[in-house]
Amino acid sequence: MNISSADFVISAVKPAGYPPPEFPEIAFAGRSNVGKSSLINTLVNRKSLVKTSRTPGRTQLINFFLINKAISFVDLPGYGYAKVPEAVRKTWGPMIETYLSTRDCLRGVVVLMDLRRDPGAEEVNLLDWLQLHQVPAVPVLTKADKFTRIKQQLRRQLIAEALGMAPEGLVLFSAKSRLGKDAVWGRIEELCQYGK
Ligand code: GDP
Repeated sequence: MNISSADFVISAVKPAGYPPPEFPEIAFAGRSNVGKSSLINTLVNRKSLVKTSRTPGRTQLINFFLINKAISFVDLPGYGYAKVPEAVRKTWGPMIETYLSTRDCLRGVVVLMDLRRDPGAEEVNLLDWLQLHQVPAVPVLTKADKFTRIKQQLRRQLIAEALGMAPEGLVLFSAKSRLGKDAVWGRIEELCQYGK
């Protein structure tokens, strides 16, 4: 994908604060520290369009970006960070669910999971929720560079089994080596019918 522009648009909490639904939209969701900022920055060839959070869980807003003045990217707040106060954590679920269930221009959600971790309840719940609401999911396994190629395949197989999915449906990704960048873009282009 040739990136001609990548701009921050706005941060929002509630639907009233979302930008107008002018463009096909792709959201990115995952546990704090999973590598979400790094993945988005890699996709758009920018070092720090999305700030990589030194303090995981600090980004508690829904952040909207516009790519090539044609596709909207949405960085959803990372979930599951233990040090966040319970009161704050309680607002995350509803904030994300409200976004996912009300956003008409949403074409799909990139669901990030760390290749080193077995999927937890958050990941399973999110994927089930998306399926139930017929929102396409693009499952991506991050930090693949932490493993050899053989071990990458084995971990993917195990995670796919845990999720009841076909291994080929899970994209192996590394922000370090850029493995999987084209595959993720391919899925996004398909969902947005853009760039082909
Ligand atoms: P976020 O909290 O999900 O946005 O995660 P970040 O993108 O800020 O990354 C969290 C940490 O994981 C940082 O220390 C990154 O350098 C590291 N990281 C992110 N992606 C990769 C990757 O593909 N490979 C490796 N080895 N580390 C990564």
